[in-house]
Amino acid sequence: MVSKRALIEDLFGRYVVVSSSYFPQYIDLFISCLPPTSKVTSKEIIEEHTLFNFYTSFLSKEKTNLIYEMMGKGSNGAKLNIEQLIGFGGSKVRKPSYLKYCPLCYKEDMDTLGESYWRIHHQIIGAYYCSKHHVLLKESTVLSTGSGTEFICTDEQVCNEKLLEDNYSDTIKLLNLRYIHNAELLLNGNFPRKKLTYIIDFYIDRLRERGLASTNGNLYMKDIQELFLNFYPKQYLKMMQSDIDPESPSNWLRLFVRNNKKNRSPLRHLLFLQFLGVKIDNLFQNKKVLGKKVVSVQYNPSFDIQKRREQWLQLIKENPGANRSQLKEKGKGLHTWIYRYDWDWYDKVTPKAALGKEKAGTIDWEKRDEECLRLVSEAVEIILQREGKPIRVTPSSIRNTLGFGSWFHNEKLVRTQRYLKEVKEDIDDFRVRKIKWAINEMLSKGHIVSPYKIQLYAGFDGSNKKVRKLILEILGTNNHI
Ligand SMILES: [Zn+2]
Repeated sequence: MVSKRALIEDLFGRYVVVSSSYFPQYIDLFISCLPPTSKVTSKEIIEEHTLFNFYTSFLSKEKTNLIYEMMGKGSNGAKLNIEQLIGFGGSKVRKPSYLKYCPLCYKEDMDTLGESYWRIHHQIIGAYYCSKHHVLLKESTVLSTGSGTEFICTDEQVCNEKLLEDNYSDTIKLLNLRYIHNAELLLNGNFPRKKLTYIIDFYIDRLRERGLASTNGNLYMKDIQELFLNFYPKQYLKMMQSDIDPESPSNWLRLFVRNNKKNRSPLRHLLFLQFLGVKIDNLFQNKKVLGKKVVSVQYNPSFDIQKRREQWLQLIKENPGANRSQLKEKGKGLHTWIYRYDWDWYDKVTPKAALGKEKAGTIDWEKRDEECLRLVSEAVEIILQREGKPIRVTPSSIRNTLGFGSWFHNEKLVRTQRYLKEVKEDIDDFRVRKIKWAINEMLSKGHIVSPYKIQLYAGFDGSNKKVRKLILEILGTNNHI
């Protein structure tokens, strides 16, 4: 394709301006240009291959339909464009500037299909991981928006297979994976749309159930904020563009459950639902909400975080020597609440199990072991076949090659650790490999080869007698070098 304009005319039947990767338009025109045997529909493209469902799930039915129309037929002189309708303009949560991809998905595609493609769920705002491989997503060099139309393939020009080093804590990783899970439910679910007033009433009901709002639906904002900040690490809120200044009366959380008409980013809806511990479909399938109306049901009137803490401390005191799961059994409701909303405090005061047994549940080490083992053997190949000065195969050079964090040395990765021991290169083997490499290099560059020069070229100390002996042996036995 020499001319982009000609390509657009081929794809759409006429020249159209498409400026957003998230909300492509004129899809009806595109469909009509496909071969007559094609069974692809506009609906399929919009609902399965764009971020439409993700961004409209919390909008009204009317707005959702309007956006759908605009994607299918084009804007046709509408006053607002799609991104304005969604509220991107005024939103504090900005969308990613570059298209993202997973290096392992990309590698799999290349290995099995010979080409790759941009996956829609990797473009979700706030998604840091691939939900399939649990590795960090990478930013490509391709802008997600822009005035000029470009057609850029997911290929080696803009992507590569190298993994990013993951320095995030397990807590953050798990929080984000759950967020991604929920976001993907939105993306694939096409739930019935609800009015914003319904959604806010739903939130108030859930808060009331937790003693975080009065019977009338007045919010105990100070408590909500405290629990929210306990639930999400500060670093994570920053990553999600949702940091909170607890002192500011107009921080986003305080405004979030207020009945104003402003659109909220789906990212913040998801953060809030995750905090509430509510399943996504629960919000959309639920029929009745009370919200701020007066209700006759009696709830615990004086909700008090201090009280719950006291009760928990009392429980620990009454059960000396009990481990966490025994305490959990004894203080069932209390435990659930404190564990979920006051975790840092819980972790501080509650006795730990002998060998951190409790935490084992959060990571599937066996599965990770299996994945690691496969990656390690690939890494060994990469190290051995690497061009340039040889690197010794050791657990740390393997770890560097894979870009893994310190968890890589965890003894729970039983098979991986065993394999690492087996595969660790013997120091003399490594010396031999380095010497052979140096000799080949020197010969190919036309250098004069002497044992001393080889020794220096390979990076050894010139006075190392052991190495000198090895060099002489190699020179003596290997005529084919
Ligand atoms: Zn992946």
